[in-house]
Amino acid sequence: IFRFDGKDEDERPHKRTKDVASIVNHYNARPEVGVIQRNDSPIIGLKNFNNWVKSVLITQFAHPILAKSPNAGPYPNSSGMRPGMQIRPGGNRGAGKVLDLGCGKGGDLTKWAKAKIREYVGVDIAAVSVDQARDRYNSLRGPKFAASFGAADCYAKPLNLSLPPSMVQSILPPNGAEFDVVTMQFCMHYAFESEEKARFMLHNVSKWLRTGGVFVGTIPNAALLLEQLDALPEDATDLSFGNSVYKIRFENRKDRPVYGDRYFFYLKDAVDDVPEYVVHWDHFVQLASEYSLYPTYVKSFHEVFEENSDHAEFGPLLERMKVVDGNGESQMDEDQWEAANIYIAFAFEKH
Ligand code: SAM
Repeated sequence: IFRFDGKDEDERPHKRTKDVASIVNHYNARPEVGVIQRNDSPIIGLKNFNNWVKSVLITQFAHPILAKSPNAGPYPNSSGMRPGMQIRPGGNRGAGKVLDLGCGKGGDLTKWAKAKIREYVGVDIAAVSVDQARDRYNSLRGPKFAASFGAADCYAKPLNLSLPPSMVQSILPPNGAEFDVVTMQFCMHYAFESEEKARFMLHNVSKWLRTGGVFVGTIPNAALLLEQLDALPEDATDLSFGNSVYKIRFENRKDRPVYGDRYFFYLKDAVDDVPEYVVHWDHFVQLASEYSLYPTYVKSFHEVFEENSDHAEFGPLLERMKVVDGNGESQMDEDQWEAANIYIAFAFEKH
């Protein structure tokens, strides 16, 4: 499986911008609480819902071994597969390679285990989180996919995943090292601090993704954020909005650069006033096309819910993942439900 090169000069903390340092410190400092304590979180309904959305996204779009035929349509049909998708010889499970950029503490490992992938590589800038992800992988029960973890800034330079020479022949496809899926959950927006970082991020996604492979992710919904900023009173000096669960604070009202459009984000029991950057969607799509990545799907989290809550597989999953209780009652209050819709889910395909 893939292994990383040793640490390199660029990863040294003093080379990081102040924003990156506070992002890394924040995530490294957040404790891994385990399942029992996690259930006590005041926003457990929202956390479970976010996990459900990721499960839907992974199952529908990132099923790693579904190969795309040249005339595949863009959207999934009722069985969750895009028209024209082909099932590889050997069945429809068990052959995928997934690269998780910004993998955090490995919160999606179980989801990938359920998708029966073959190989997983998790990378995150927060070294403490990476260790926790590795521990979580080691404690997974049942048959496991092969996995490798490493700490690296995925937005600072070309990502170098290397293989021990003896394994190169057996694993690499003839055209180089490639993954079927690259996943970036709740983390891609940190790359939009600058054009250089956004480009390194897209370079890394595209470089490691095979043609026909899928890039999936979740990011804040720029249109919704800016709509709420616009709705603040003309003379407001505090440019913040939110509710009891989340707060977003902008620093200015008018200047909307495509990179470095910064705000500070607070999410109860999760994120404490961390700098983030608006991902202006149309600009992102245009930029991604320079890296041969084309969108096939983008929906707000509310839309993902509306379209999948009655689905034969994802409906019952809502209860299993404790988004709703046995009576179908939501475990989120109004404020959590509103906070849930800050995010959008997307899928791109590499041509
Ligand atoms: N993807 C995980 C999940 O869904 O549970 C973690 C999401 S967490 C909200 C955001 C993650 O992005 C953090 O683990 C953080 O360390 C990571 N991150 C931020 N900047 C990064 C960078 N430059 N390179 C790699 N990871 C980064």
